[in-house]
Amino acid sequence: MFKAPRGTSDILPQEKAYWRYIEGKAVYLCQLYGYQPLNTPVFEDYQLFAHTAPDGADIIKEMYVFEDKSGQKLALTAEGTAPICRAYLEHGLFNLPQPVKLYYIIPAFRYERPQAGRYRQHHQFGVEAIGDADPALDAEVIELMYRFLSSLGLSGLFIEINSIGCRKCQPDYVEALKKYYSPFWDRLCPDCKVRLARNPLRLLDCKEVSCQEIITGAPKITDYLCSECQIHFQSVQKYLTALGITYQLNHRIVRGLDYYTRTVFEVKPEGKGVQIALGGGGRYDNLIEELGGKPTPAVGFAAGIERIIIALKNQNVIVPALPKPVAYVAYLGTQAKLEATKLVSRLRHQGIAAIQATGDKSLKSQLRQANSLDVKYTIIIGEKEVANETAVLRDMSSGEQETVPLSEVASLLEKR
Ligand code: AMP
Repeated sequence: MFKAPRGTSDILPQEKAYWRYIEGKAVYLCQLYGYQPLNTPVFEDYQLFAHTAPDGADIIKEMYVFEDKSGQKLALTAEGTAPICRAYLEHGLFNLPQPVKLYYIIPAFRYERPQAGRYRQHHQFGVEAIGDADPALDAEVIELMYRFLSSLGLSGLFIEINSIGCRKCQPDYVEALKKYYSPFWDRLCPDCKVRLARNPLRLLDCKEVSCQEIITGAPKITDYLCSECQIHFQSVQKYLTALGITYQLNHRIVRGLDYYTRTVFEVKPEGKGVQIALGGGGRYDNLIEELGGKPTPAVGFAAGIERIIIALKNQNVIVPALPKPVAYVAYLGTQAKLEATKLVSRLRHQGIAAIQATGDKSLKSQLRQANSLDVKYTIIIGEKEVANETAVLRDMSSGEQETVPLSEVASLLEKR
């Protein structure tokens, strides 16, 4: 028997209620905040991702890479930001008034060790505001992410923010961090040994218990910010306060990719144990330029839909059920089946969701199916009803039945 590949899952109809709910809120809020949808392909040129991450970065190691039949090296989309920036450049969106505000809901693929909240295919809802360095935009993006998560009914959310500086001030901090870490070499976990050499900022978000004490004493990047970055970070906080958004400063928040600058943030649900982020983002003022465009500041976030669903379930948030069919049409006999087919078609044309029985099941088993579909009404057509041009209308919750003219069934249901 085949199974879905490890770390992936099927989304069954009952689970889809969560997806519709989450996607509905995302689309509604993006429209409210002036973000427009943009879809990018499920695979991209491998270099698009490789180019924007440091050597040995998790995202590169975890990427699904393959060659197509022409020998082109491609990768399954691992995150949404680089593809959106590629599309921004490819379609000349820089010619529009800036910032250009976009959103996406995409599958993302990462070859990670599957565990709760960590999969090899997951889905992200993200937004990107490209073409403006205004700190008010950072605050808007943070507010949008927070509002999205809280409007789903999640409580106890907390926002953590940090600034990781710019090309001018970040290198000094990285040097200080390396200097601080070198005496601890023997005590570092294997991953941190690699991080120290290749991606020192990531040392700060190591989850290994043995590395926690070392992180606590590490220098803080906010003490190394240049005056422009300091002013920018203070302004972001000023706007967040003006928007009534509560946040905490956490100097351990860094992002995995090279292209992040200045503001970075995460939103986590409150609770015990290691907190996994529902979403995160930040400013990436160098990415567009690295992809061959003019220097273009930008800011965005991405939130993981599967993790949001886990949080909704943990907090017992009830989501609206998917719409159910209203009517089930049962029949007995060949002539009745023909009438049933015509009736179902009429109902559907009038916008009444209807299901037709199939095959030659007994009336009892047709009613059982109607019950399991949780329809409001079952319409039964037998030989007598065909002869009289009527149908039996059964209210499934009360069990009451009445005989009505066949031609009036649709309008009757519509009225009720
Ligand atoms: P990132 O691009 O790593 O910042 O991811 C953005 C969001 O996607 C995270 O905050 C998570 O909610 C979610 N996410 C990232 N990686 C995974 C994964 N492997 N499985 C499930 N969700 C993920």
